[in-house]
Amino acid sequence: MASRIALLPDHVANQIAAGEVIQRPASVVKELLENAVDAQAQTVQLIIKDAGKTLIQVIDDGMGMNSTDIRLAFERHATSKINIAEDLFALSTKGFRGEALASIAAIAHVETHTRTEEDEVSHCLKIEGSKVIDQTLSTQPKGTSIAVKSLFYNIPARRNFLKSDTVELRHIIDEFQRVALAHPEIKFLFFNNGSELFDLPPVGLRKRISGIFGAKWDNHLVPTEETTSLARLTGFVLKPEFAKKTRGHQFFFVNSRFIRSPFLHHAVSNAFEGLLKPGFHPGYFLYLSVDPKTIDINIHPTKTEIKFEEEQSIYAILRSAVKHSLGVFQVAPTLDFEQNTAFDVPYSFKEKTPIPPPIEVDSSFNPFHSSSQPSKPKKEEWEGILSGIQLDDPVIENDEIESLVAVPQTTRLFQLFHKYIVCPLQTSMLLIDQNRAHQRILYERFLGSITAKKGVSQQLLFPLKIALNPRQIEEYKQTKDILEALGFQIELKKDAMLEVTGSPDHCPPTKIESVLEHLLSGENTDRSIEHFSQADQIAKAMAKSLAIKTGDLLQLEEQQVLLDDFFGCKETSVSPFNKPIFITLDKREIEQKLS
Ligand code: ADP
Ligand code: MG
Repeated sequence: MASRIALLPDHVANQIAAGEVIQRPASVVKELLENAVDAQAQTVQLIIKDAGKTLIQVIDDGMGMNSTDIRLAFERHATSKINIAEDLFALSTKGFRGEALASIAAIAHVETHTRTEEDEVSHCLKIEGSKVIDQTLSTQPKGTSIAVKSLFYNIPARRNFLKSDTVELRHIIDEFQRVALAHPEIKFLFFNNGSELFDLPPVGLRKRISGIFGAKWDNHLVPTEETTSLARLTGFVLKPEFAKKTRGHQFFFVNSRFIRSPFLHHAVSNAFEGLLKPGFHPGYFLYLSVDPKTIDINIHPTKTEIKFEEEQSIYAILRSAVKHSLGVFQVAPTLDFEQNTAFDVPYSFKEKTPIPPPIEVDSSFNPFHSSSQPSKPKKEEWEGILSGIQLDDPVIENDEIESLVAVPQTTRLFQLFHKYIVCPLQTSMLLIDQNRAHQRILYERFLGSITAKKGVSQQLLFPLKIALNPRQIEEYKQTKDILEALGFQIELKKDAMLEVTGSPDHCPPTKIESVLEHLLSGENTDRSIEHFSQADQIAKAMAKSLAIKTGDLLQLEEQQVLLDDFFGCKETSVSPFNKPIFITLDKREIEQKLS
């Protein structure tokens, strides 16, 4: 019988291995940028088309490769960065596995131009699916350009698995930002579909951060420094008052390599303890330099995790340095954490227009089907149940009564735990989650506005100017139509300033900036529900930002309006995030419990 075992051909082995290193266009971006940095480039350009699906090109002015190296570079385990096993413990470069280029060349069309200082001519090599197609000479400047086209052309399953351009571009921007933040001394340029997304001159870390996230960041940062025999720490933390609700501004670099470390994160969070309002996350850009021998970064294929020899000491250094810098800059005492949130309630009875939403919500947009959900009382049922109940609260004027026809008209409503509205009925009792009920109301209204493109807009007395960073500008371009349909009157002016002259109904002027920043952060997109429409996600994000919160004190009138609006909703059983909104306690249930 013939032998059953055979060695896999190289190109098959390469394709399989490639899957581990290259998951999406952003992985290619990361590897090419890191190679350029390792080649000691001073200027690095990233050019992409169609979120990297059509083209990813990185051009550097680094040391280049000679005629032998250019061929070796695409062999598996070919690296110039380590020679002997001991080198692994003293790494100063990003790469060392010699896998990236071999992997990329196995699953794409790759064209490389490169020239060293010594060579008079440059070398050009074309590879498709690990096969060399062409090798020629040309006259390019010193440095290397690698263009990766038709990524995953020979792995349709991978290609089909890629997400929308918006999502893939977001991943690419994430990788770009990490490398650019790790190396503020290098100039980085980023072009997307022919337009410039980032132009980051080599001007120090503070300017690099504001170059990426927006000019105003300059004033929001507090320097953090510490030097011990074990480690040197530099960088910035974001002043607590500018903390964000998203975690997108948390960066650790160890020996100039971006690292994910729940452990280091914990040390910083600990230092911020008591300084952040609930739901807000610290922002930081922290750089640790340690002896490479005292860390192990070789435990994860994409190399973003780390182990320290002296874990406890690193934790202590980090925590105390961050605490100290926050203290020195005296940011803590200027904060007013005791602010009464009751004054912030975005939902006021006074502002309420007593007419039903003018636009019918398109129920086909509704991602939830109520068949398996808790029973859903209809507005008419309410009217039936409640017709006998008299409104006898003297606070409510007669003309207001007319606007409350559909409300469970009872003065016996009350708020429980600053969280629920308790609504007693004739033979049962409802417990309604105020936050979820309001999310449902706002979600249906916003979705209705977007669908009908007729969002009601309130003119602002004073136009608002918000500085956008390049990433937010990209999100803005993708979502402008939807934002306008919602009722935002916005225009992108020069210098990346977004001018807001009008805001949607239900979005109080004080909230405009934070809502827009949230919408344009790209982070409200729940990746697990990507197949929902963009309109749906934006309506959800708006509802989440603007809804009455748990902890908000509601006046009786506000409770009543909330219930009225809530029972006018198309769907009442679950919130836009699929959480139950209310429970019913039957009189009989109560009697049984007390029998
Ligand atoms: P690694 O970075 O782990 O060594 P790669 O597959 O990424 O492996 O690259 C293989 C080799 O190709 C590198 O070690 C380096 O010598 C060379 N190389 C890759 N990119 C560049 C570049 N932009 N400039 C100069 N040399 C490069
Ligand atoms: Mg590499």
